[in-house]
Amino acid sequence: MSFRLCILQRMKSIQTREDWLLEAVELLRPLFKAKGYLIPPVQVSCGFTSTGVRSGHVGQCWTKSSASNEINQIFISPTLTTPFEVIDTLVHELVHAVDDCKNKHGPIFKKIALKVGLVGPMRGATAGPVLKPILLDLVQRLGPYPHGHIRVTMRKPVNRNRPRAKCKECGYQVPMLKKFLTFGPPICPVDKVEMEQVGNWDEEC
Ligand SMILES: [Zn+2]
Ligand SMILES: [Zn+2]
Repeated sequence: MSFRLCILQRMKSIQTREDWLLEAVELLRPLFKAKGYLIPPVQVSCGFTSTGVRSGHVGQCWTKSSASNEINQIFISPTLTTPFEVIDTLVHELVHAVDDCKNKHGPIFKKIALKVGLVGPMRGATAGPVLKPILLDLVQRLGPYPHGHIRVTMRKPVNRNRPRAKCKECGYQVPMLKKFLTFGPPICPVDKVEMEQVGNWDEEC
């Protein structure tokens, strides 16, 4: 079997995001090796980080000791849209895997990151001008990321009109729990008079 055929067959087997991510790791291994770093065995999945979707974290690498199989586990956020963003984030997380997350974003992380071509503030280090075209080429070879990204509204809708009670004598205010709206407004602890309804007391809100 020719080498080319072998590559084609391997690429054909990419059906899931995990297939794509693991293949990307294989394509990135020589790049790390050329800089003197060994990517350890890793498991990579598409998934939210433990810090939650609103943390803005788009990738996470877990230490070997945190996994029962002693293998670094990486998660790449499903909110990422383009294959480039995905592989860029993957490179960052693989740098964490290289030192088993021992140095967070400290000097040792920085040294590895800069060598493989990441730039910027280390917490969010992404591909610089040298690495970027290399990653774009890898993305071409990998083909489409089999993905529908999750659209997340990062800002919580603020209900400015939430139900409250206000004392017209002293101005004392309390927020109301929805389930107690039918009980009516409470009595002001100072003036001992029934407080006024403020905001939307409609149960629908
Ligand atoms: Zn990081
Ligand atoms: Zn009052």
